[in-house]
Amino acid sequence: MPFYRLKTGIVHVKGTRLPAPCCVRFSWPTIGKEQDCMAPSAFLCDGPNEANRSGTCDAPLCDVHARQIGPNQHLCPTCLLSHRDTDPQRGLFTSLV
Ligand SMILES: [Zn+2]
Ligand SMILES: [Zn+2]
Repeated sequence: MPFYRLKTGIVHVKGTRLPAPCCVRFSWPTIGKEQDCMAPSAFLCDGPNEANRSGTCDAPLCDVHARQIGPNQHLCPTCLLSHRDTDPQRGLFTSLV
């Protein structure tokens, strides 16, 4: 029974088989503080995470915070950053050193 942030505020939703709340932290312009998004998630992050048993980050993401990088592949903001860092294009620069 997760808590969700809906338009009406934080809501404790009862039921089973509900999606996890979005775990992305960002600053809300209205209150100027960092808060978890907590919107009902629509995707799971497909970014690599060796610490996780399934090998993927699996962060729950709402449709606002999921970044699509391929067919049925989504990344959370954190994985998107490291995904950019490992961009093969960067190899062009390191090979010049
Ligand atoms: Zn979100
Ligand atoms: Zn991730």
